[in-house]
Amino acid sequence: MSYVALYREWRPQNFQNVVGQTHVTRTLLNALQQGRISHAYLFCGPRGTGKTSVAKILAKAVNCSEAQEGEPCNQCVSCRAIVEGSSLDVLEIDAASNRGIDEIRELRERVQYAPSGGRFRVYIIDEVHMLTTEAFNALLKTLEEPPSHVIFVLATTEAHKVPATILSRCQRFDFRRITPAELIERLKLVAEHQQIEISEEAIMAIVRAAEGGLRDALSLLDQCIGFATNAITLEEVNQVLGTVSEEFLRQAIDGLAFNESARLMYLV
Ligand SMILES: [Zn+2]
Repeated sequence: MSYVALYREWRPQNFQNVVGQTHVTRTLLNALQQGRISHAYLFCGPRGTGKTSVAKILAKAVNCSEAQEGEPCNQCVSCRAIVEGSSLDVLEIDAASNRGIDEIRELRERVQYAPSGGRFRVYIIDEVHMLTTEAFNALLKTLEEPPSHVIFVLATTEAHKVPATILSRCQRFDFRRITPAELIERLKLVAEHQQIEISEEAIMAIVRAAEGGLRDALSLLDQCIGFATNAITLEEVNQVLGTVSEEFLRQAIDGLAFNESARLMYLV
């Protein structure tokens, strides 16, 4: 079996398992239960905080044949196809890759067609602020009169770069940095499941480096697992991060203070 990156393996598959964004997931769940689905959403926030994950959960929820209180079942044909990435009704566009010109043009041509299997076709446009003016204009035309079977989820780390004309047509959700406490809890849970020994200090170092992004935190943990031979300590995390440990600094300063060049040489 090929190795699956931790952040993929631990990607939330329903709203309840999304870490640190209750203000977003609760609102979406309420809307789904009440059948008040918007045709355009804007997910803003720092990298790795769950924007694309929530977009995919939303895509499953609106197309799920067995949805329970707004949550997707993750078992039906539609849910499984979306999880596997084979659904024709969920289209992901990375605006950063070629500024979206071809994709948006194609989107404009295809958007009128009914979804192939599900009820809604969901377009997830990641890093939407990277679109060219031309692509934004094309998108705007679609957003002005979206077909009833289409939902747009625009995701961005830089909402201020999205034109006001686009913003005004979207329901906006601001994803926030995940708190240290939430990151610690998640890392501990993952470590326990993966049967990995990791010190408290090491977890704290990962949390500091991740700056509120769960994807970065899990990627770092992944790298530490690959690097460490036994338990993961602060030393391993620092080496992976390429930072210098406090102990190293202390010894280096001592070496300088006492003019012990031999000691400094040893440290280097
Ligand atoms: Zn389902």
